[in-house]
Order: sequence, then C-alpha cells, then structure tokens
Amino acid sequence: MEFLPLFHNLRGARVLVVGGGEIALRKSRLLADAGAVLRVVAPAIGTELRELINSSGGEQILRGYSEVDLDDCVLIIAATDDESLNAQVSADARRRGVPVNVVDAPALCSVIFPAIVDRSPLVIAVSSGGDAPVLARLIRAKLETWIPPTYGHLAGLAARFRHQVKNLFPNVRQRRAFWEDVFQGPIADRQLAGQGGEAERLLRAKIEGDAPSDAGEVYLVGAGPGDPDLLTFKALRLMQQADVVLYDRLVAPAILELCRRDADRIYVGKQRADHALPQEQINQQLVTLAKEGKRVVRLKGGDPFIFGRGGEEIEELAAHGIPFQVVPGITAASGCAAYAGIPLTHRDHAQSVRFVTGHLKNGTTDLPWQDLVSPAQTLVFYMGLIGLPIICSELIRHGRSADTPAALIQQGTTMNQRVFTGTLANLPQLVAEHEVHAPTLVIVGEVVRLRDKLAWFEGAQASV
Ligand code: SAH
Repeated sequence: MEFLPLFHNLRGARVLVVGGGEIALRKSRLLADAGAVLRVVAPAIGTELRELINSSGGEQILRGYSEVDLDDCVLIIAATDDESLNAQVSADARRRGVPVNVVDAPALCSVIFPAIVDRSPLVIAVSSGGDAPVLARLIRAKLETWIPPTYGHLAGLAARFRHQVKNLFPNVRQRRAFWEDVFQGPIADRQLAGQGGEAERLLRAKIEGDAPSDAGEVYLVGAGPGDPDLLTFKALRLMQQADVVLYDRLVAPAILELCRRDADRIYVGKQRADHALPQEQINQQLVTLAKEGKRVVRLKGGDPFIFGRGGEEIEELAAHGIPFQVVPGITAASGCAAYAGIPLTHRDHAQSVRFVTGHLKNGTTDLPWQDLVSPAQTLVFYMGLIGLPIICSELIRHGRSADTPAALIQQGTTMNQRVFTGTLANLPQLVAEHEVHAPTLVIVGEVVRLRDKLAWFEGAQASV
C-alpha cells in the first residue's frame, strides 16, 4: 500500500493554501467543508476564493509565498502553476514535518486527496496513490450511483442512538449484530425510502424490546468456481459479517480476501484422497462455533449443494437446532462452460445436461453408463481426472462414439484457466501431455464443438 488512508479532523485547524486560482479554490472549498481555518497566500486571489475565505473566517495574504506562512499550520496545500515554487513549499513543509499536498505532483506530496463520495457522516475515499486519478474518479462515479444519497441519513440515525445502544450492549459482538440488523432490515429500508420518522420509531422499539439473541448462525455459502466477480451479493454480504470462516481448498485466495478482515479463518481443506478434516469433524465444528454465538460462514467452492456435501452439514445443524441459511453459488459446470465458450445445452446438439461425479469408489465405477451414452446429452464430470481413462473407455464401451468431442477445463474462470479439447478417444492422453491437474472439469458432448465456432466471442475467452 503506497498511501495509508486516514480521515483528518480539521475542525478549527489552520491550513495553508498557496495559490489563488481555480485549483486553490477547489481545494479550499473541500477544506472549508471540513471546518478548516484557511490561510491563503498569493499575489492575486480570485473573487470566489476571497468570498469563501471571508465567509469561513479565514485569512488572505496578498503577496508571494514566504516560509513564515507555514507557522501554526497543520496541513499545507501548494496549488500554484509554478513548479519550482510548489517544490519549495513541499520542501519547507517536509522539513518541518507538516503534511503537504502539491496538486498534480504525487512525488512532492506526503498526503494526497482521494476522490470523495460524501454522504456525511458517511464518507468514502478512493485513491490510486496518484497513479491513475481518472480511474479513481470513475470508481467514485460508480459509487455515487450505487449508494443512495439518503445513506448519510442512515449513518445520522445511527449516530443519534450510538451511545444508547453502546450502553445497552457492552459486548462488541452483540452490538455489531444489532447494527447489522438495523442496516439491513426494515429500519434501513424506511430510512432510505425517506421515512426518517418511521425508521426512528422502529429503532426505538428495537432498543426497548428486541435484544439480539446470543445464538449463532451458520451460512453455507457458495463461493463460485474461482473468479471473485462471480460471487452473489448475498454471499459477499454474509462473508463480510462473518465472525469465523471455514473454507476448503477450492476457495480461491482472492475470494477469501473479501471476508471480514478480522474474521477467524479456518482451513478445513479437502484433498481428493486425503481429507484434511473428516466431514464429521467439520459438521461438528460448525455446531460448536455456532453454539458459541458466532456467525459462521462455511465457504464452499461452486454451489454448496452440488457435490459439496452441503446436505450433510445442514442435517447436523438442523439436528442441533442451529439456524442456517444456504446461499447458492455458480457451480463449476456453469462457470467453466461460460468461460470456455461451451454452451451446456443447445437446441440442435444437446437437450439435456447431466452433472456426474467422476470420483470412483475403490478404483471401480458404479455409474449408470447405459444412461450416459445418449448423443443428445451433455455430460459434465466433477472430480473426473483420476478416473478419466475408465470414464472414457466405459462410455465408448457402452456405445458413445469415440469421436465424441470432449473438453478439459482446469481452474476454470480464474486467471490460470486452461482449456484442452479432444475426443473421448484421446482425452486421457491430453491430460498426460499437458500435465493437467485438479481442479479440472470434464465436459463431454457435441456442444464442445461450439467452442471453436464461438471463438470470435472475446468475452467468453477473456481469461483463457
Ligand atoms: N461444489 C462444487 C464442486 C465440488 S467437487 C461446485 O459446485 O462447483 C470438486 C470438483 O469440482 C473438482 O474436482 C472439479 O472437477 C470441479 N471444479 C470446481 N471448481 C473448478 C474450477 N474452477 N475449474 C475446474 N473444475 C472445477
């Protein structure tokens, strides 16, 4: 991190602005908004800036800059178009250890202005560390449209009841749960809809009667196949509320990053043969943590209910009366197919698609091969890499053509995605040739041919 974002309390503090033009005016406005006492020095100061200085109780010094101007100032802004003067101001300020910002010259700055979304008291600052201010501004514009202006009122509502709630719940965890409830429930809905009075009434009622319970909860969250962009809003929201996160090997580090920073992270990874933690222990751990009153996110690759053993976990939770929610995720089949340009069904080529586990028990197969050989059916094998030679030969033996197109998608949807296409006859050979490893998804069916036809479609190939 090049710059640490901090929010500066400037109320009543003196800030020096060197320069009297447009840019000085823009910065001065921000500073005055933050309650700073302006000292503006320049041989000439524009009318608007002069009015601002007067109305905010600042001082103007109509001459060239001199080092004494720095006296008593807690922040220095150099906003002139004279580069050597700007450098001089920066050097003087640094020598005195006072934070300095030189407009449009990141190298001369000890502090920089972020792009700001102001929903006071809620303020969002976006910075590219001076490298790409336009990008920061574009992000700000997105946030502006995404965060309703009334959000500030929501923060204002919280501010009015902060102390009361703090006294009511000395325990931080309870307090956080209380506010999360407020900000995501009917109270926030009312406030954002402009019904402040009603929001306040509901909040009072909540404070008086409805103490948050101590019981924990478990969220079984599908994290999708790898690309963090494929998370659902709900998944992200719950990940950011979690006290503890249990995750396994399939969950990409970039996704784990999005969990609440101070949440405990517990790896319960599953290797194919060597399960890091037996499933029963994971189930038990979920119950124990929830009973301690924690909000537990069980983060799973793809969708929790597709070869994810989510069913077993919630059975255990239900047996212990622990509340839970299940959040669907994009399963590997959907993610990989989309990012590899292979539609899973197609009017002309495949009227159905079947998700099959390729995990063979004791090296043998008990799959219903007869049902898998229809040419109009796409097959998607999860965990099919080890058993691939058997899968391919059994499909051929039971009547699926050896020429049936097939694809291997390794680490689908991630930056490391690799796709290899061939036929049932040569797929195992491709694995050896290209050293394909887990996690890899196998897609079998005529639809694989469409990948070549769709190759022009850039988006579908973005990370291949
Ligand atoms: N619940 C998960 C599947 C878990 S089984 C889901 O819905 O996707 C694990 C298997 O999923 C892996 O062996 C592999 O076959 C497949 N898989 C998961 N993520 C994958 C990815 N990003 N790329 C390719 N295959 C993946």
